[in-house]
Amino acid sequence: MLDSLAGDTVVWRHRLVAATPRPDQGWDLTFHGGRRTNCDILIGADGARSVVRSLLTDVGTSYVSTVVELNVEDVDRRHPDLAELVGPGNLWCVGVNQILSAQRLGDGGLRVGISLRAEGRPLDTYLDKRALLDMFAGWNPRLTALIEAADGTPTPRLIEAMPSGTRWTNRPGVTLIGDAAHLMPPVGEGANQAMLDAAELADHLAANPADPGTAIRTYEESMFTRIRPIAEMSARVQSMMLSPTASDDIVRFFSRTAEPARTD
Ligand SMILES: Cc1cc2nc3c(=O)[nH]c(=O)nc-3n(C[C@H](O)[C@H](O)[C@H](O)COP(=O)(O)OP(=O)(O)OC[C@H]3O[C@@H](n4cnc5c(N)ncnc54)[C@H](O)[C@@H]3O)c2cc1C
Repeated sequence: MLDSLAGDTVVWRHRLVAATPRPDQGWDLTFHGGRRTNCDILIGADGARSVVRSLLTDVGTSYVSTVVELNVEDVDRRHPDLAELVGPGNLWCVGVNQILSAQRLGDGGLRVGISLRAEGRPLDTYLDKRALLDMFAGWNPRLTALIEAADGTPTPRLIEAMPSGTRWTNRPGVTLIGDAAHLMPPVGEGANQAMLDAAELADHLAANPADPGTAIRTYEESMFTRIRPIAEMSARVQSMMLSPTASDDIVRFFSRTAEPARTD
């Protein structure tokens, strides 16, 4: 995709620090280090801590969970038992208020994740593998071996979300896509919705190049309508998965979803 663009279309290593409206139309952009440019239309695709978002809404984010990430490199050669346990996709082990997961990566490694409820403990509590193993005391050693085998220091992160139903009043020449527009608990929707935002916004702009204002308004209205139920579902699934009764609830959730439609 990059090769199909003119060489200077994407400019790497420019962190936006401010965007201010130009007197006629468009935006002046200032980047870290003082570099400046301007644009006619500003599309904020700058993720969870979007700078562009503040031009449209002062909505805040709230802390919904902690995820600690660990990596196991070269798993087939170094830990064939773990490679077999995880298989070609994902492994999820759901406990009481905590989840241990592992995902096969394209580089031959595993990404191991520990998800915990929002507890307010300092993040450096989770930097030590020993402390993580203590949290999984009593778990099957075949599973905790995923933590034992991890290379390097664990990376703990606070996971945040915006309130579901977040919307803003349209402002000419600026909009948001992806996590900048709708940061949700991570239960499998964020990247997918970000790509759909980009495709739909591009479609509207391409279909109506003379009137980008209408294209952006149309995109925003349909994005708000699409995202609201997905954000609500993501919040429900997140609290279900990190609850004391998570494993039973998840079995019930999938059994209910899998029930055949009634014909009577
Ligand atoms: C633990 C976890 C698991 C997840 N699992 C899934 C999943 O299974 N399926 C799924 O669909 N989604 C998942 N997600 C969500 C998904 O990762 C995000 O929704 C998705 O990455 C959002 O894409 P984005 O392009 O909007 O933002 P990002 O991927 O965050 O990209 C934003 C980009 O903007 C750049 N940027 C930030 N600030 C600035 C600035 N000021 N100036 C210039 N550039 C800037 C960043 O460097 C980054 O490159 C998960 C998230 C987490 C945390």
